[in-house]
Amino acid sequence: MPADLREQRLARLRLLRSFTSFAAPAPRPEVAALAAIEAELDGCTRCRLSEKRQTIVFGVGRPDADLMFIGEGPGAEEDRRGEPFVGRAGKLLDRLLDDVLGIRRDAVYIANIVKCRPPGNRNPQADEVATCLPFLERQIAAVQPKALCLLGGVALTALFPDVRGIGAERGNVRTFAGTPVVPTYHPAYLLRLSGAGGERQRARVADDLRLAWKFVEETGAAAPTRR
Ligand code: SF4
Repeated sequence: MPADLREQRLARLRLLRSFTSFAAPAPRPEVAALAAIEAELDGCTRCRLSEKRQTIVFGVGRPDADLMFIGEGPGAEEDRRGEPFVGRAGKLLDRLLDDVLGIRRDAVYIANIVKCRPPGNRNPQADEVATCLPFLERQIAAVQPKALCLLGGVALTALFPDVRGIGAERGNVRTFAGTPVVPTYHPAYLLRLSGAGGERQRARVADDLRLAWKFVEETGAAAPTRR
């Protein structure tokens, strides 16, 4: 081989090797799946909630979390910051996770039924839920949690339209796409309560969290996410 061709070939090989050595490893499947769903939602105008929102609040947390929480939709603070459960209700959820389960929020995955803030914090309407829900279902399929915890009646009836209200159903285990589901009260509801009644409902939520965590522990997968 002529010297100049050999030199050219060596230069190409050196270049290829430099690309190979700096190539990022392929992302884990759950990370890639979540990123693909989020990219699909970029600038979403599929329902009227897009009109008043500031930010699409996709979801946050560990992409392969054993426990996944689902609330109803972003509030004002979440809409501003683009992250679910970062207002007062979110702080209470953080405290409950710490006090009851001994885990931090980054050990779980948190998302909402709708990803844009309903104006005035109203409940999302049925057509808005129906439009956004397929994306949540894909998030659940990507994360593959060992248990789901539904926070409040809107999340409950979005996944189980025929059930009674959250007061009657909290703590009753159901199954969604093969995953155990524990519905419980929304932290925002707990914030509105005081006195003995508030303590009683808070204790019920703690029981529900322990119940959800039992499904995680039964799989033997809890150790890495527990403090
Ligand atoms: S709530 Fe969901 S479907 Fe509606 S605009 Fe926002 S991201 Fe799109």
